[in-house]
Amino acid sequence: MNTRGFASKKLPHQFMGARYVRIIDNPHLADIGGQFANAAGEKFATHDGLHAVRFEIAKDQVRFGGVACCVQRFHMSSVAGRTARETCTHDKTPRFRMRMNRPLNIGILEGDDIGLEVVPETIKVMRAAAAKAKCAIDWHPLPIGRRAFDELGNTLPPGTLEKLDTLDGWVLGPIGHQACPKNNPNSINPHPILRRHYDLFANIRPSKSYPGIPCIYKDVDLILVRENNEGFPPDRNVHLGYGEFRPSPDMTIGIRVITRQGSQKVARAAFDIARTRQRKIVTAVHKDTVFKLACGMFAEECRKVAKEYPDVAFNEVLVDTMAAKLIMKPQQFDVIVTTNTFGDILSDATSALVGGLGLAPGLSAGPQRAMAQATHGSAPDIAGKGIANPYAMIMSGQMLLQWLGRKHNVEAALRAADLMELATESVVKAGKVLTADMGGKASTREIGDAIAAAISTV
Ligand code: ATP
Repeated sequence: MNTRGFASKKLPHQFMGARYVRIIDNPHLADIGGQFANAAGEKFATHDGLHAVRFEIAKDQVRFGGVACCVQRFHMSSVAGRTARETCTHDKTPRFRMRMNRPLNIGILEGDDIGLEVVPETIKVMRAAAAKAKCAIDWHPLPIGRRAFDELGNTLPPGTLEKLDTLDGWVLGPIGHQACPKNNPNSINPHPILRRHYDLFANIRPSKSYPGIPCIYKDVDLILVRENNEGFPPDRNVHLGYGEFRPSPDMTIGIRVITRQGSQKVARAAFDIARTRQRKIVTAVHKDTVFKLACGMFAEECRKVAKEYPDVAFNEVLVDTMAAKLIMKPQQFDVIVTTNTFGDILSDATSALVGGLGLAPGLSAGPQRAMAQATHGSAPDIAGKGIANPYAMIMSGQMLLQWLGRKHNVEAALRAADLMELATESVVKAGKVLTADMGGKASTREIGDAIAAAISTV
């Protein structure tokens, strides 16, 4: 529960469990919204006579700027770009809209190796779609990775984070583990820093098979939602230090972090996504038979969240069984939610089912911002040859526009995302301009050009 502005023990029972409340039917709404925005700097959404904001509470009244208001409880979860209206099971009020009267601000961070090739193609396609959809975007190129290290002495140079603070989202190319010098304090891996700094707790990774593209299964269409900031990875599971240590030369100890809040947030993200899909099934993957406390907590939170979504079917599969089921019959899965490392491993497997890493997009999303980041790494083995498949990165950009469109209710961004999806699918299905991993001979740039050109015809 968010405790900014109130102590949870003071909450009257009707607000228990609500992370946020909505002000309704108050004649001073405009003033209240303004005062609150000024006072606390946070106003989540507005639509006609409705405001959704974090709240301060005294006894049985909610007050903003000293004005008492009627309130209604709901759960706010914007990870999948869903609005408060859509995430509340009891809410009967109209859908929220936040007025976005300015261009979207999107960062461009190319990264290393094939990032330098696939990110420019992604931006090319995003620009073409945004132009056709009349979606105003201000673009902000920012240094990161090896180039930033060479030019500015740091893989995440001072100023990059400060600039990202002002953006709505960004496209991040892969950062090469081999591209950057080892054992240099200024050569750090920016991924965990970005994911934690912006609370990008959900890593959303779709896998979809297309006719004509060489793959193991023809009819896979699933989304894996992976918790992004907890679990086993030692570079992000402790506040200070490193979550792995060696007490003696022959012994290494690693730790795993699972929290109720982290599990709940990612579970809610998965259910929100499932609601946007036809089959509406969430499968939680864990191993609570062995990791009784850690996976046990994750599973408990998934079960609790499942009760808030009676319209979404829910089941659980142990992670080892899941490995087999994904190989045997992946078509049965719709949305999969799991912990960090299980998700990291399984999402490489799900990408392989549909043709490989070149076809595996991804989005890391949090409460305020999202980061388009393909599942693949920097692939130094094929870098500089112009043969990397830009599909994964382009569709990651598409996911970012869709997320921003839903979060801020920018119809033009949703239209641009739809155009990108249609254009990409049309080029892939036509089968004429494909990179080697998809069975073709086209270069990275030729695919980018073909998809950007297809935007005008779809
Ligand atoms: P990193 O250490 O950055 O994760 P990696 O080489 O270990 O890099 P990936 O970059 O994910 O891991 O690449 C694994 C393999 O998948 C590469 O050898 C490459 O051939 C292939 N691959 C990855 N991305 C693409 C792509 N976009 N297009 C074509 N092949 C790709």
